[in-house]
Amino acid sequence: MKDLPASSPAGSGELLPWHRPVWDAMRSSPSQPQALLITGPEGSGIPLLALALMQARLCDHPAIDTGVACGTCRACDWFVAGHHPDVLRIGNDVALPGEMEAEGGEGRSKASEAREESAKSRNIPVGEVRRITNFLQVASNGAAGRFVILSPADGMNTAAANALLKILEEPPANTTLVLVSSRETRLLPTVRSRCQVIRLPRPEHDEALRWVTSRGIAKPALALDLAGQAPIAAAALDADFWAARDRLIGALGRKDISGPALMAIGEALPLPILLPLLHSWVFDCLSVATTGRVRYHTDQVSAVTSAARRQDVDALLAFEQRLRGARRLVDHPLSPKLVAGDLLLAYVACEARS
Ligand SMILES: [Zn+2]
Repeated sequence: MKDLPASSPAGSGELLPWHRPVWDAMRSSPSQPQALLITGPEGSGIPLLALALMQARLCDHPAIDTGVACGTCRACDWFVAGHHPDVLRIGNDVALPGEMEAEGGEGRSKASEAREESAKSRNIPVGEVRRITNFLQVASNGAAGRFVILSPADGMNTAAANALLKILEEPPANTTLVLVSSRETRLLPTVRSRCQVIRLPRPEHDEALRWVTSRGIAKPALALDLAGQAPIAAAALDADFWAARDRLIGALGRKDISGPALMAIGEALPLPILLPLLHSWVFDCLSVATTGRVRYHTDQVSAVTSAARRQDVDALLAFEQRLRGARRLVDHPLSPKLVAGDLLLAYVACEARS
């Protein structure tokens, strides 16, 4: 299983601005819990806070004023390279800035590959959790102790969660388990209750926009809208995404688009890109029909409005429910093309052609 990307936005344990208040509160806490659950909105960088926290604890020279890792000592080098002997990473969170920065100009971008990969590897099977036991048998090298990060922790299946519960029931000495999840309610209550929970708020719009803009992203405000105001997700929207979006939204907005024509476009896209795009478009159509406002595709107001006029609202509401179900299953698609084709045909059927 692929490890979490090791780097923070700056590759040195740097804090995201909207994490600062929680960071300061954690620093002032007198004790180090044996199990932490870091939770917050998807796409707001909660794995990065967990990584920054671990790196800071392991760093030889953290900044005196902020406690942030130095990014240059040997421990930081090991950590950023993903080789620190006292760190075990389990799980595969995607759409982190480190992946985007690592991408080259050739072929498919890493962020796009990662999104496709996420369908396969978001899950954490029991074998992965069992690696913790082996890891704990290795003595800690440093005074900071050992760290295990599971992200996304809600990717654990029942067997994996039960295996983790056994570890949490007899917490190993000198070890901190860090669980990261934007879907806290999917965790076993017995797992949650054994963790100190840190909940991160959604970043303020202006702060998020400043950060996305500072990343040099094209159309930062639109990217933020499309990502549901989640800045890390917005910054992960790469050229492949924009090309896919142009094709799909162009087709969805066309008055006379046929089912087969839409299928030809949609089936060529990976489900982790297609489903959120289709869902945000449908959400916007419903939003325009009921409130007159567009939330995601803010550059396509007239196309969304025209589509909404053609659609049967009741049919679209039912379709939106179906899309929600499909998105829940995106980690376990039986046949991605079949799923995409069925949904796109159902979308076209929502257009009242009388
Ligand atoms: Zn350091």
